[in-house]
Amino acid sequence: MSTIAAIATGNAAGGIGVIRISGDEATAVADRVFKAMDGSLLADLGGYRAKFGNVIIGGQPSDNAVALVFKAPKSYTGEDVVEISVHGGLLIVQKTLEAVLDAGAKPAEAGEFTKRAFLNGKMDLTQAESVASLISAQGEAGMKASFNALQGSLSDKINSVLQKLLDMSALMSAWVDYPDEEIPELEEDELLSTLKECEAELDELLQNYDNGQTVIDGVDTAIVGMPNVGKSSLMNMLVGRDKSIVTQIEGTTRDIVEESVRLGDLVLHLRDTAGLRESDDVVESIGIDKAYKALDEAQLVLAVFDNNKPLQKQDREILEKAKSKPAVAVINKVDLEQRLETDEIENAFAKVVYICAKENKGLKELSSAVEELLGVQDFDTGAPMLANLRQRQNCQNAKENIAEAIGGVEMGVTYDAVNVMVDSAVEELLSLTGKKATTEVVNNIFSKFCVGK
Ligand code: GDP
Ligand code: ZN
Repeated sequence: MSTIAAIATGNAAGGIGVIRISGDEATAVADRVFKAMDGSLLADLGGYRAKFGNVIIGGQPSDNAVALVFKAPKSYTGEDVVEISVHGGLLIVQKTLEAVLDAGAKPAEAGEFTKRAFLNGKMDLTQAESVASLISAQGEAGMKASFNALQGSLSDKINSVLQKLLDMSALMSAWVDYPDEEIPELEEDELLSTLKECEAELDELLQNYDNGQTVIDGVDTAIVGMPNVGKSSLMNMLVGRDKSIVTQIEGTTRDIVEESVRLGDLVLHLRDTAGLRESDDVVESIGIDKAYKALDEAQLVLAVFDNNKPLQKQDREILEKAKSKPAVAVINKVDLEQRLETDEIENAFAKVVYICAKENKGLKELSSAVEELLGVQDFDTGAPMLANLRQRQNCQNAKENIAEAIGGVEMGVTYDAVNVMVDSAVEELLSLTGKKATTEVVNNIFSKFCVGK
């Protein structure tokens, strides 16, 4: 493999900047750019060694630096790796990379370090993909789940199902190929129970996926309600600063304001919409159309009502619209006299929360209501979890293949035919972990990484 290099610390100034070099020539390339104070060569060092020295740019010592040496296979990529840490100014980091490239390394492509780690068997595809989701995680739960996948919890799960299928398949083949030999009788019951076990385990992974995605990607949330009920105030309460304009004149939130906030373990992508009501004002009615659209697209609706006003015709429309969605009724202004028919709302919504946005009261209740509604309150970040649609598709296909196999056994088809279905499931799972993924799949995964990762 050629020797590649890139800035590993991103394109922003920081305390230190790291240039990562990986490949057979890593130490040789680094020795052309880095001179240790004690004169030793990196190429002569063992793994896990560090040297203090200078980087030489255009023949001139240009910065103090630390070079870290990792020897194959004990490195991130599984190849020889040198990481040179310089002071984190954008120019010095860029110039050091240029010097490393002049010294014989090739610029690394997006995700190429991690791709090499995969190709060298340092991690499987689920782990490589968890590196990507760990980097992009927005909430703590997402971070934990990605780290667990990186540690191999998903691969372990998949591999254990895989092993069961392979054992079974081998037994069935033997039975088909050598019916006369002394092969232990294949018990149909045993076959069925193993298949059903595998099916259940894959099903659990699939079930966990939706909750997991909710936690990791965040939830598109629309805040809807009549003008002046306190949508912007709720948004501000969630955001923790004045983002939407709060006024006493009805209809001031004309366009949609968006903001991502953390609520308990979840990240909500909030949209504060214009008050939903009929309007003659053109600008405002555009806002209202957007509000209905936001409601339709949302994964979660926070329908806000004013405790101080009886239900209006439009409140009831919102109430109807929100029924088809996971929705929490948020009854605001509980500091004022109750004039709202709260019974009617309690009947229409699975979750009702009473708040006082003006005094920042009710956040905790809202948080638990949302988590319960979305079924994430007992989401176990320690459980193995599929990380993306690619993995989900493989898992889904495998499950369907197994379901077919179960049907086949129950209908009494030949073991040969059952085995074809089991083999298809095996193929899907091998492709999930990358043991048998196509080059196209692999390239596609790593092209989504950033350069230097
Ligand atoms: P929106 O039109 O739905 O976005 O409503 P706003 O958030 O702009 O609020 C409308 C008015 O209601 C403002 O004057 C707020 O100060 C007031 N308001 C919001 N929340 C509360 C509350 O909990 N109690 C009381 N008394 N007034 C509130
Ligand atoms: Zn508003």
